[in-house]
Order: sequence, then structure tokens, then C-alpha cells
Amino acid sequence: RAKDAGRGRVEVYDDDLRQTLAAQAALEDGLRRALAEDELVLHYQPVTDLRTGLVGSVEALVRWQKPGEGLVPPGVFIPVAENSDLICDLGRWALRTSLAQLAQFDASGGPGAGLRVAVNVSGRHLRSPRLVDDVRCALEASGTAPDRLALEITETVMVEDDAAWARLEELRAIGVQIAIDDFGTGYTSFGQLARVPVDVLKIDRSFVDSEDPRTVELVRLVVGAARSFGLRVVAEGVEQVSQVRALQAVGCDTVQGYYFSRPVAADRLPAAVTGCHEVFEETCRLEPAG
Ligand code: C2E
Ligand code: MG
Ligand code: MG
Ligand code: MG
Repeated sequence: RAKDAGRGRVEVYDDDLRQTLAAQAALEDGLRRALAEDELVLHYQPVTDLRTGLVGSVEALVRWQKPGEGLVPPGVFIPVAENSDLICDLGRWALRTSLAQLAQFDASGGPGAGLRVAVNVSGRHLRSPRLVDDVRCALEASGTAPDRLALEITETVMVEDDAAWARLEELRAIGVQIAIDDFGTGYTSFGQLARVPVDVLKIDRSFVDSEDPRTVELVRLVVGAARSFGLRVVAEGVEQVSQVRALQAVGCDTVQGYYFSRPVAADRLPAAVTGCHEVFEETCRLEPAG
């Protein structure tokens, strides 16, 4: 008990806690202002098809363009935003911004036209009754067809939450796609995989990274299971051609990773889409069988 510890120790602990809380509060304030003053930007990372080399979709990833400090990655501020409803404001912003951007890519008629977009949705936003309305409004405002939007939900928030599952079903009924993000890091069993209300399974980077032959077999099993349940598969974090080959060999549909393209600002996306196709043609095209 804190009371039983020496008085000095308690104060040190209090000081640390106070500092942590103060830092979090400052970050939260900054983020709230960033949202209001347009300091957040979305970068887009292409997802490449492993048979054709074509890019069918992109994932929208938020960055904080902090004046004088450059781009702050989401790992720094998303966890803090998730402590309050700020994450729902951010989610709403990401939905509106990415769909508006999609409409602009369409209008440009360039290599970015016709893409689908995946937006990350926090567990807190999924548990909020506003999510479905937020999605509807963003779709209406942009005039985008619902089937061009996917929501990425991390595996850990999905497990055994009836309300969340019902909300996902509602979104799917509108025509929005649902993806399980970071698959393999949570606790979804094969049995649940048959029942989860999702369309896409994103295999976590840690599985793509591993040279362990048992991990490769695991990915083969997951890809096979996904296929028999009618789910599409995206492998995350592909950095090397050897990983592309291994994923092609186990029948993985699509990949996302630095090997094809880093996440890029919207104005660079059309070039990145073309670049993915070129990399594929040069290094990954499978020889026709027979
Ligand atoms: P995530 O959804 O799993 O996104 C994939 C992360 O992997 C991104 O990091 C991406 O830049 C990174 N990545 C992609 N390819 C490679 C690769 O080949 N190698 C390596 N090492 N990394 C790769 P990022 O952009 O820093 O985002 C981190 C996490 O922050 C995301 O993980 C997601 O959970 C969260 N996040 C990002 N944007 C949003 C957002 O708008 N809303 C919410 N709620 N969360 C977001
Ligand atoms: Mg994601
Ligand atoms: Mg992921
Ligand atoms: Mg993640």
C-alpha cells in the first residue's frame, strides 16, 4: 500500500504520476487544437495485388504536421487520443477527409482514380453509438459508394463483444467492408474466424517478418482458412522480395509494405500507384504455369 511506504517514496511516485498526467493532458490539448486548426494529414499506402501487380486500395494513415516539429507518427498521439472521445473526433475527421480525397482522386482521372480506401477505427469509436452515423455522413458528403470504404478494426477489440459485432453487421448492411487489422496478435480462434462479421483479414507484420518455417506454415493455414470463409487477405509490412515470393507461394492475395511503397501524401499517391506496378513487373511477376 502506498500509505505504508516511506513518505519520500510516495511523493516521488506522485511526482512521476503528476508529470505523466500533465504530459498527457498537454498532448491531448495540442491534439484537440491540431484537429481544429488542420494540422493533421492523412498519408496513403497502396495495397498491391500479388497476381496482377495492380493497386486496388489504399490505407489512410494519420500524421500530425506539428509546426516546427515535422511529422509526428500516430504511435505517439493515437494512444493518448484513445483515452477520451477525442479519438472519435479524430475518426470522424479521418472518415470525412479520406472519402473527400477519394472523390478527388476519381475526379483527377489519374492512377489514383477508382481506388478503395481503408480507414482505421479505434475500439472506442466502434463502441460509440455514433460510429454508424459518422460513416453515413462521410459517405454522403463525399458522394462515394459505400463499397469503396473499408474500416480497419484491430483484432483485440473485436473478440466477443456483442454490441460491436452488431454495429459491424449494421455497417456491412450499408455495404461498407470490414477488415480485421493486425490479425494474429490477438485471440481470434479459427472457430471465430468462421463467424466474425468481416470481409478482409490483415495479417500482422510480425508473421511476414519471420523466417521461421513454422510461421510460414501458419500463414499458409490462415490464408487457406480465410479463403474457405470467403475473406480476402492482406499481408502487412512486406519489405523484401523474398517475403513477396513466400506470400505468393502460400496464395496470399494482396500485400502492403515498404517494398512496394511507403505511405505517401495525397499528391504523391498517383505516382506511388504507378511505382507499385513497376516494382511488381520488374521483380514479382509470376511465370505462367506449364
Ligand atoms: P496499422 O493500421 O497496422 O498500420 C500499419 C502501420 O505499419 C503503419 O504505421 C505503416 O506506416 C506501417 N508500415 C507499412 N508498411 C510497413 C513496412 O513495410 N515495414 C514497417 N516496419 N512498417 C510498415 P503508422 O502509419 O505509424 O501507423 C501506426 C498505427 O497507428 C496503425 O497501425 C494504426 O493502428 C494507427 N493509426 C494510424 N492512423 C490512424 C487513424 O486514422 N485512426 C486510428 N484510430 N488509428 C490510426
Ligand atoms: Mg490499419
Ligand atoms: Mg496493421
Ligand atoms: Mg497496428
